[in-house]
Amino acid sequence: MPHILIVEDESAIADTLVYALQADGHSTEWVTLGSAAVEQQRAHPADLVILDIGLPDISGFETCRQLRRFSDVPVMFLSARDAEIDRVLGLEIGADDYVVKPFSPREVAARVRAILKRMAPRSEPAADNTPFQLDTLAMRIVYRGQPLALTRHEFRLLQCLLEQPRRVFSREQLLDGLGVASDVGYERTIDSHIKSLRAKLRQVAAAAEPIQTHRGLGYSYSPEHA
Ligand code: CA
Repeated sequence: MPHILIVEDESAIADTLVYALQADGHSTEWVTLGSAAVEQQRAHPADLVILDIGLPDISGFETCRQLRRFSDVPVMFLSARDAEIDRVLGLEIGADDYVVKPFSPREVAARVRAILKRMAPRSEPAADNTPFQLDTLAMRIVYRGQPLALTRHEFRLLQCLLEQPRRVFSREQLLDGLGVASDVGYERTIDSHIKSLRAKLRQVAAAAEPIQTHRGLGYSYSPEHA
């Protein structure tokens, strides 16, 4: 059962969240102070934190900063003003989502579900004996027990391939996965990322060919060759 930490000083709002989240099959813990949230997360780590920005002691922003020193737990901000959201989006404080008050508790519950689903792969044990471990949150991939030093694009590329083993992706589809617009020369861009990715994989396992080339089609991840 996913455990949610709610940090909110208005009990009426906290109550509706507790109710909606429990109805959705989550267990919840409610605290009113940012400092209490940090302590709570250290002692009993939650799977997700819902964090109000306006708190009586330290702000939600500061709370998040303190959480980030030891935890990569997903954080959803509750904001009373649009101006605060600009800060959520503008600052690199690692928010996973936000809602503006007044909000529908059901909507919050739905978003919590979506975030937890997105996070799920990292807590699940490897489904088969794949030599890759994917940690989407930390943007880290471990290959045969060794963490790979990947650029952002290499990470996305490998993530895309790993998530659908044996599927042949065209270069355009892979580019899409990177969030880059197709442009003149995009095929070469993908090819050069694949080339450097392969070089890094070969440093771990020289004879393996986890990324297969399909001439005229694109690339796939082949667990059989990993
Ligand atoms: Ca508040």
